[in-house]
Amino acid sequence: MKKIHSQKQKEMKKTAKERIKHLFRQAEKAFNKNPSLSNRYVTLARKLSMKYKVPIPRELKRKFCKHCYKYLVPGKNCRIRTKDGKVVYYCLNCKKFMRFVLPRKKQP
Ligand SMILES: [Zn+2]
Repeated sequence: MKKIHSQKQKEMKKTAKERIKHLFRQAEKAFNKNPSLSNRYVTLARKLSMKYKVPIPRELKRKFCKHCYKYLVPGKNCRIRTKDGKVVYYCLNCKKFMRFVLPRKKQP
C-alpha cells in the first residue's frame, strides 16, 4: 500500500517538474510582449516547486532573480559577467547580484 502511494507521489512530482519547465518556456515567449506576464509564470513555477517539493531545474534557476523573482533576460533586465570561473548576474530590477559557479570542464 505504501509503495503505491510513493509511486503516485513520484508521478505527481514528475508532472510538476514538467509543468515548471513549461511555465518557463511560456515566460520566455511572453517576455517581449508582456514582461509582467513572464514574472507571473515564474511565480507559478515557484509555487509548484514549493507545493510538490520539486527543485527548480538548475538551468532554469538562473532565468529568474532569486531576490525579486523577476524573469531575467540577459541584455534586457540583467547583466552577466564572468569572473574567476563564476558567472555573476546583476539584476536591473532590484540591483542585486547572483553568483553561479560555472561547471568545471573535464580535463582530457
Ligand atoms: Zn532582482
